[in-house]
Amino acid sequence: MRAVRLEAFGSLVMREVPTPSAGPGEILVRVLAAGICGSDRHMFKGEYPTGRPVTLGHEFCGLVDAVGEGVAGFVGGELVTVDPNIACGACRACHEGRPNLCDNLLAIGVFRDGGFAELVAVPALQAHKLPAGLDPVHGAFCEPLACCLHALDVARIVPGSSVAILGGGVIGLLMVQLARLAGASEVVLVTRQASRRALALELGATVAIDPAAGDVIANVRRGTGVDVVVECAGVPETLQQGLAMLRKGGTLVLFGVTPQGVQVPISPFDLLVNEIRLEAAYLNPHTHARAAAIVASGVLELDRLVTHSVGLEDVVGIVGAAPQPGEIKVIVRP
Ligand code: NAP
Repeated sequence: MRAVRLEAFGSLVMREVPTPSAGPGEILVRVLAAGICGSDRHMFKGEYPTGRPVTLGHEFCGLVDAVGEGVAGFVGGELVTVDPNIACGACRACHEGRPNLCDNLLAIGVFRDGGFAELVAVPALQAHKLPAGLDPVHGAFCEPLACCLHALDVARIVPGSSVAILGGGVIGLLMVQLARLAGASEVVLVTRQASRRALALELGATVAIDPAAGDVIANVRRGTGVDVVVECAGVPETLQQGLAMLRKGGTLVLFGVTPQGVQVPISPFDLLVNEIRLEAAYLNPHTHARAAAIVASGVLELDRLVTHSVGLEDVVGIVGAAPQPGEIKVIVRP
């Protein structure tokens, strides 16, 4: 079968590989749709810890093709989404119920073979069923959505909250929709591309702001500041700006990934006297099932986020290049 393999940092190739089989406790998934994530580009460049060689692809949805020994609950033919993050269950973080902080986290599509392939074998416990008729492209959104749900959990948005979302990539545009679902009455999206600002307004943002047009902090604060900022750009300036946009007692959720080693000056005094809550949200602890339920409900606008649909043979060129202007989510259909 065909698979897209990271053989070394900077070396990604599509090649024929032996067809995997479902081992004990595993299911074999025939991949119908897989999302390309910014992390795949980081892995290609060696900016994120990654196994090598490995088949990339950690956001995918497909049909159960075979069921391994000892697996209960699957017979074959089910549409599934897969939580790629396999926690060990034995370390202190796992015992404390925080699998995203597992010392031995083994992610599918990062350290073991993932979904940029025709077939992938995964532990059955990582799979969540989706309704049979669901568009598998929507199913491929479960993984990024599960990460966003964790951010929403730590943000503690309640009906009537005011929320600013910094960065209008696929994550920021999912956050806009989730913040509205959570009851936020004001959702401000800050991003540079005009087309994304226009889309955000259609998806539920109440205001969309170009950070280059005037004083972005004052334009978001509009007097008192917002209750919650979710930083989804992963650049130093948005972290600094976000902290200054908050009202007293507000919460900033750090979600974007800045390259390891980057330092950002912040003012501890301002955090202290304003009792600013600075939270980080990493991966998807206990949120994948909820993400699957939300996707299955059809309440989110996902088709508007898909800008490109490609084959396996196109992945190398896309992951190996910078995102194209206008690109939001690229979906691979093996
Ligand atoms: P993305 O497509 O790169 O979106 C980020 C967007 O931020 C950029 O496209 C850019 O859009 C905008 N941006 C850049 N500089 C900005 C600035 N100064 N002010 C306002 N907006 C700015 O990435 P994504 O896929 O949406 O993901 C967002 C971030 O979340 C990434 O860093 C990703 O690695 C991270 N992530 C974290 C987790 C987690 O578990 N914490 C999970 C998944 C992803 P414009 O060109 O429109 O400005």
